[in-house]
Amino acid sequence: MLPPEIRQESIKEKILELIFPGDIYCAGCGKPVERGRLYSFCDECLDSIIWANGRNCRICGKPLESWYPSDICSGCAHSVRNTDGGVVCFIYQGCVRDMIRSLKYSGRGYLARIMGQILAEKIIYEDLDFDVCVPVPMFASKEKKRGYNQAELIARFMCGFLGKPCMPELLTRTRQTKPMNRLSAAARRSNIKGAFSVPAELADEVTGRTVLIVDDIYTTGSTVDECAAELKKAGASKVFSAVMASGRNQRRLPEEHASDKDDKAV
Ligand SMILES: [Zn+2]
Ligand SMILES: [Zn+2]
Repeated sequence: MLPPEIRQESIKEKILELIFPGDIYCAGCGKPVERGRLYSFCDECLDSIIWANGRNCRICGKPLESWYPSDICSGCAHSVRNTDGGVVCFIYQGCVRDMIRSLKYSGRGYLARIMGQILAEKIIYEDLDFDVCVPVPMFASKEKKRGYNQAELIARFMCGFLGKPCMPELLTRTRQTKPMNRLSAAARRSNIKGAFSVPAELADEVTGRTVLIVDDIYTTGSTVDECAAELKKAGASKVFSAVMASGRNQRRLPEEHASDKDDKAV
């Protein structure tokens, strides 16, 4: 439970709550549940969720297996990251995948409130401090078609719980990009390269500040990383990421990070 001082919601968040009332359906499978359940999950969904509460990558927050021989996940070990740390709430599978897809494609916008609360509590648990939050932006025409940016909704609710500023305007998507889900890691990086910018007139809002990027899913990290690169270019002192769910660690480490070449990680 959050202390009362950080439960204060801005007017914007209160309006969102009126538009998207939660607590009536299971956030995972959508079946009716009684009010007051933990994050509105039914028992079956709660049992099947894989929480990212154990060892995590110290750069992106992705969960690591207990036997994995490094504190940096395979993806971060193979890349130069622009983020200074991050948190992940779940592994992207089962009802978590359904929940995120429902928010994205089925218009179940009330799920953003639940996800915002989960993310806020994770940030408190991990003691992650930041000055301003920026959701990963969507291209304007795509957002218009969907009616909302799911990352922005999650970020707004999360900031409502935390009493922190949410400023989506600090990052804009300058061009349409191909859907990422069928692209290789290298193709994702080139697809997203240069797709974001910080408006020059708002650079002062970023300079010298710690920025938290919020998104729904973290796969290879190329999107979050490109956002972080732009924010750092605009003068952000630190950039962290907070996402609902990530894929599993790919278990492959480059030589310089592997402490045991014969380990299962190869
Ligand atoms: Zn359920
Ligand atoms: Zn990582």
